[in-house]
Amino acid sequence: MPIYDYRCTRCAHEFELLVLRNSPVPACPSCDSQDLEQLLSGFAVSSEGTRQASLDKFRRSYKASGQRRDEQAAAVEYEKKEREEHGG
Ligand SMILES: [Zn+2]
Repeated sequence: MPIYDYRCTRCAHEFELLVLRNSPVPACPSCDSQDLEQLLSGFAVSSEGTRQASLDKFRRSYKASGQRRDEQAAAVEYEKKEREEHGG
């Protein structure tokens, strides 16, 4: 159902309105003004974007930390030790 949040710019009254295709121009139920500001429910979108941005930042810092290279070096070190112990 297309329910929109509106705020009246005259009396600052906020209300929800069901908007249909054949609905008349919405008016403030408090002061009957038609100077309405449609409030976008953009909070979910913006917080999602923020989370994505911080995730990207986390990935970049993880990559920059060089942990992967350390792991590889550790694996090489382990193999060398194995060879020394058993190859002898
Ligand atoms: Zn109003």
